Amino acid sequence: MTPAPNAELSLKGASGHPSGRILDRFAHPAPPRTQRARILSVFLPFAGCPQRCLFCNQPAQTGAAPEPLEAVYARLTALLNDTGQEAPQELAFYGGTFTALPAPWPRRFLELAGPHLASGRLTRLRCSTRPDALSAPLLAELKSLGLSLVELGVQSFNDAALAACQRGYGGAAAHQACELVRAMGLDLGVQLMPGLPGQTVAAFREDIARTVALGPQLTRLYPCLVLADTRLAELWRDGAYVPWPLDATVDELARALLALWTGGIPTARIGLAEQEGLEILAGPRHPALGQLARSRALFLFIRQRLRQLPAPPFLLLAPRRLQGEILGQKNALAGDYAALGLEVRLWDEPDLALYARD
Ligand code: SF4
Repeated sequence: MTPAPNAELSLKGASGHPSGRILDRFAHPAPPRTQRARILSVFLPFAGCPQRCLFCNQPAQTGAAPEPLEAVYARLTALLNDTGQEAPQELAFYGGTFTALPAPWPRRFLELAGPHLASGRLTRLRCSTRPDALSAPLLAELKSLGLSLVELGVQSFNDAALAACQRGYGGAAAHQACELVRAMGLDLGVQLMPGLPGQTVAAFREDIARTVALGPQLTRLYPCLVLADTRLAELWRDGAYVPWPLDATVDELARALLALWTGGIPTARIGLAEQEGLEILAGPRHPALGQLARSRALFLFIRQRLRQLPAPPFLLLAPRRLQGEILGQKNALAGDYAALGLEVRLWDEPDLALYARD
């Protein structure tokens, strides 16, 4: 790619360095961020769930206690009729198994939202659910009522991990569910949980490869944590479950992100949002887990590109907007870049570049 006319000038201006050559110039590998939608989330903790899964504590995760669907419906009605609410926004049903709510609740909720979708006040209807709670007729009905994005709590496509978690479905069923959502013309979201009981690193990498092949519109990666008041907490106390360490988890998340980026698949979230009432007993937690993974993924990408160059460059030039990302938290990746023979500098261009001095 030809450097922008002012690339050399920017470099000199930034570093005062003598002239050189740009060997490789490239954009950040993540899919371009679309404007983040405002989401009105309706939490339905455990509603419709055929069981309470061993790692799950929805009330603590969402900050919402289970309540009768009639009460949720009344609250949503009031919210949607509150013209003081800013619009437009998306409406999402999270925290339970939306497609397995007892009839006629899925229909009732979507019919409530329908007029607001028609008026433009709501821009999209989305839900989360389990892979084994779908059928073509049901999806067709929900789509006709305005649903356009289905997030599947796949967790893993690996039979051993799914069996160890007693999820109640196997990898083939999870895969078919994803294909069904796509085949019905709905957008697909895939949620994965690296580090589940019974899951190996190799199995998670395979999960990512299968996800990339499925081409969902979004992904969420929630490394498995031991939450209080779960069966997983008992297993952990008994020594029957050992969570993945933080460093190894960040490495795997970075590899996963890079694969997803390469496939053009956005990742909407990495790691549980820690909030009041969520008691995490063990597991790979970090308040900036997503940023750690993203920085490491970018490093892996740059290392790949570097390997394709004939001679070692001396400088990695990064746009200023990546200042917080390129070297990681507290410059944790500075040593890794140095080990590649790279000095990292910021410049005023929008792309990254590998630069060699003459
Ligand atoms: S993981 Fe999903 S299906 Fe299982 S209890 Fe939690 S919300 Fe329900």
